[in-house]
Amino acid sequence: MSFRARLLLFFTIIVVIPMIAVALVLFSITADSETGKADAQIAQGLRAAFAIYDADRAGARPALDAIASDPGLAAALTHPKPGAVRSRLTELRGSHPSVAWIAAFDPGRRQIASTGAPDVVALAVAAPSTGGGRPLGYVAISTTPAGAYVRAVARTTGLTVRVARQGRVVASSVREPPGGSPRSGDVTVAGTKYRGRFAQVSEAAGPTIQVGLFERESALNSAITRKWLLIGAILVGFLLLALISSRIVARALQDQIAQFLDAARRLAHGDFSRPVPVEGSDEFAELGREFNAMSDQLASNIDEVSRKRHELEDTIRRVGEAFAAGLDRGGIVNLAVRTAVDACEADTGRALPIDKRRMRSARIGDATDELEAALESAERSAFAVDTDIGADWLASLEAASEDETTEQRKPVRAEVDGYHALAAPLVARLGSGSAIEQVGVISIARKGRPFDDSEYELFTYLTGQAAVSIENVDLHETVRLQAVTDELTGLYNRNHFYETLDSEIERSRRFGTDVGLVMLDIDDFKHVNDTFGHLQGDAVLVEVARVLRDLSRDIDEPARYGGEELSVILPQTDLHGAELAAERMRAAIEDLRIPAVGGGESLAVTASFGVAALPVCAHDRESLVAEADAALYRAKRAGKNRVRRSEPVPAEAES
Ligand code: GH3
Ligand code: MG
Ligand code: MG
Repeated sequence: MSFRARLLLFFTIIVVIPMIAVALVLFSITADSETGKADAQIAQGLRAAFAIYDADRAGARPALDAIASDPGLAAALTHPKPGAVRSRLTELRGSHPSVAWIAAFDPGRRQIASTGAPDVVALAVAAPSTGGGRPLGYVAISTTPAGAYVRAVARTTGLTVRVARQGRVVASSVREPPGGSPRSGDVTVAGTKYRGRFAQVSEAAGPTIQVGLFERESALNSAITRKWLLIGAILVGFLLLALISSRIVARALQDQIAQFLDAARRLAHGDFSRPVPVEGSDEFAELGREFNAMSDQLASNIDEVSRKRHELEDTIRRVGEAFAAGLDRGGIVNLAVRTAVDACEADTGRALPIDKRRMRSARIGDATDELEAALESAERSAFAVDTDIGADWLASLEAASEDETTEQRKPVRAEVDGYHALAAPLVARLGSGSAIEQVGVISIARKGRPFDDSEYELFTYLTGQAAVSIENVDLHETVRLQAVTDELTGLYNRNHFYETLDSEIERSRRFGTDVGLVMLDIDDFKHVNDTFGHLQGDAVLVEVARVLRDLSRDIDEPARYGGEELSVILPQTDLHGAELAAERMRAAIEDLRIPAVGGGESLAVTASFGVAALPVCAHDRESLVAEADAALYRAKRAGKNRVRRSEPVPAEAES
């Protein structure tokens, strides 16, 4: 059942049915009251009929007095003979034209004679007497023919009038007089229904008359019908009014519901643009407001979800970046700070390195002085640094971090004038077994809102991961370095020597630059080993290697070529330059005083050098090394502790 149908049913129950009941009651009351009114009118009419009757009888009195005192009539009545009495009555009637009927009676009230039309009413009676006062009988007259009386009453009352005597109708105001001798109530005459009443009127002489007054039922009915029509019209009017108003109400309700339905459908399709119109302060308005609030809530939830999705996308992108930044110290720290700022909804964040080789500084977001103060406060308490320590904040951090030996510390919170900050010290260890070191601190700050537990946990996790990443980079670099480094001397190993030489030769070919190569062999090294032991020999190697490193430029590559044979690649250095460099090295080695391992007198060593250069002495790696080697051999042969260079290949031989 639709809402509309239910509303209609409801309307029928509360309006139509009671209205029908009211109509029925009103109709019956109207019918009764109209009938009562008709009855009252008839009663009123009867009183008028009596009054007319009395007036007519009183009007007959003067004529009666004259007739009763007529000596002729008295004489005729003294010895009454009907013929004589009648003739005298006729004469008297002739002299009293208003009189319609006269009759004379003997003292025993038997009629002697009469004259005139007998259908009269309102008889007046007198008793004529002799001079001596002996009663002679009675005389009765009437000045009112029954027809005239009926007409007068009908005219006065507006009703149908009938006069009957002894069951016989003597006069009637209708052509077909109501017959019989009905008493009162409803009668039917010649197919016409009447409602009426009758009254017995005693005549002064003769039988009583019956006066009847009637009202046509049709008149009564039409009056009732008119009332009914009026009531019906009013009720129909009410009904229409109720119908219209209920329709308006239903339409309004339907409109409201349709709006909600519409809005709900829009919501279902994810359209939050249009709210439900809210008017007034009724329950619908309330519902509308609630609905709009719900819609807003839903929209903001969806916004939140899409925002979270974007954040997730960012995070995924960042994870990707993290893969890429895996071995980039700057990238790692930057990523950690940026992710911490975003994930913890901070306004700013920064990373401060303590060990600048292992960690880079980073800054995300612009920091106001207040944010800066909060960051610094958190950083200080992260390292338990006294806030009174002087201006060189980083120096105090370094100082504080030196005696820090515990495991990775939890981040600390700080608050400065409503600005909240978190700071986490980053600690990392370089390889298993080595000591934990402070490498730096990461901190974030924002205005107004303290960081909650989940943000704190996230920050802990991210900074912990950053520390792990730094350890990983350390480890990677260590391993990489180990692969190319000679363990004893710290110089590059033979493999790396060849690799470097290859790339330098390649570069020399491409750009036409020179590559110098110095090779050296420690003189009488076997003797050192044999005399002072291998450890001493190792110590000599370490010291000689240090000399090579110290005398090398940044771009030079000193390497351990073999046992006690070392080499230095000198990029962008010609044969002469290489020879000068070799000579400096030789002199420095000669000047070395190597402490004796077991104590005692320090040791001095020398080395022999062979020098070659590209492109003047050789055209590839093998020939370059061979040239340098050959020069070294010549140096040995010439007495050691000296430099020999390869001879440049003549230009014509090269081609
Ligand atoms: P020369 O002046 O002709 O070079 O004489 P030498 O004694 O140095 O002779 P040679 O170059 O043939 O000897 C190399 C010696 O160096 C042999 C080896 O025992 C020693 N040696 C090689 N590598 C190491 C090392 O790592 N440590 C030590 N202590 N000795 C090494
Ligand atoms: Mg040797
Ligand atoms: Mg040697």
